[in-house]
Amino acid sequence: MDQGQAIWIKDPLGIFADGAARGVVVRNGRIVELVQAGGRPATTGAVAFDASQHVVLPGLINTHHHFYQTLTRALPAAMDRELFPWLQALYPVWAQLTPEALQLGVSVAMAELLLSGCTTTTDHHYVFPAGLEDAVDIEVAVAKRLGMRVLLTRGSMNRSQRDGGLPPDTVVQDEDTILADSERVVAKYHQRGEDAMVQIALAPCSPFSVTTSLMRATAALADRLDVRLHTHLAETEDENKFCERTHGCRPLDYLEQCGWLNARTWLAHGIFFDAAEMERLGKAGTTISHCACSNQILASGCCPVCDMEEAGVGVGLGVDGSASNDASNLMQEVRAAFLLQRARYGVAKVSHKDALRWATKGSAACVGRPELGEIALGKAADLALFKLDELRFSGHGDPLAALVLCGAHRADRVMVAGKWVVSDGAIEGLDVADLMRRHSAAARAMQVG
Ligand code: ZN
Repeated sequence: MDQGQAIWIKDPLGIFADGAARGVVVRNGRIVELVQAGGRPATTGAVAFDASQHVVLPGLINTHHHFYQTLTRALPAAMDRELFPWLQALYPVWAQLTPEALQLGVSVAMAELLLSGCTTTTDHHYVFPAGLEDAVDIEVAVAKRLGMRVLLTRGSMNRSQRDGGLPPDTVVQDEDTILADSERVVAKYHQRGEDAMVQIALAPCSPFSVTTSLMRATAALADRLDVRLHTHLAETEDENKFCERTHGCRPLDYLEQCGWLNARTWLAHGIFFDAAEMERLGKAGTTISHCACSNQILASGCCPVCDMEEAGVGVGLGVDGSASNDASNLMQEVRAAFLLQRARYGVAKVSHKDALRWATKGSAACVGRPELGEIALGKAADLALFKLDELRFSGHGDPLAALVLCGAHRADRVMVAGKWVVSDGAIEGLDVADLMRRHSAAARAMQVG
């Protein structure tokens, strides 16, 4: 469709926005008008899209994932383990990742995300066995083909068992190789400005798989290239123990020593920060990706989201990798976060709107994109439209609350930068059955080794 053609998303059944009861008008990839109750668009020539059966959300934003893990879901060898033994069971399987398998794993993850109403996703790819040097290039190509907005990270691991780390020697790279490739992919793919579709961040994997030297050098490189920084932190008690044993301090102190405690950084998990540490995070502008499903599956703990927000820390949502979720459904993640945080803080502190806010505006702060995650004038035309036409919604009252409380899991329509990429529950130009056949075959080949 001509991007200059205005579209009026007309008379939604529900909408997660103020002053837009009659919908929104989008043009050239932006929201150009909110139409109030009883009003009509001032924009001339807008084509109406009848949204009377749809609940409209800002496109959801996924702030943490490992796409390749769709190839190792529900793997018996890794099931029923906590993080460290879970990782140790999976590293040898992941070491067999090929470019073809990665391309399929990424396609499946992005397809799942799009169909769950996600319009922008990050990915934390840190496994680079020999032959997979082009992992980020592969991911960029899939994102472009599917029309999804992405913040892909050039992840890394360089502390293997040989150096007191957790991963085997076969999945790590040396520091010079990592830094040179980080610079290469930023130069080649990172777009700047509010309309950016592809961005790159730098993302050493975790304190127990990366050296201090690489943590420091990566922060310096991100500063020089002006890109964001990401890593896992404060996920488990085991990590606390590792940090105290190896570095003589807690994970946040270590992060600060490495030059990471600033607004460029968003962290996956953030479960084990104490009150003083939350204050430091809030002051620094560092944000947190809350991964409710993963934290429950690995029994890691519960991120104190309300305490974080009260300390001024921005919180977004992430599905995390598919070996610890094991789905890539961000709408289901909204419900999981809502349930987990409500159980922790009570009915007065956590509503369905809080959970939706975390997955949209909260996540936008994590990825450093304030122009995303909100239905408001001038923001990106990234929208997710859900129908309430399944049995689970029958008899609902409030349509917006029904999405979270009844368990919406599949968007009917998804718009990214003003273009429909999902229509009638299907991704434009993607043969899902064929993708599943090839992806399943690749997963089986990896799992049997
Ligand atoms: Zn993760």
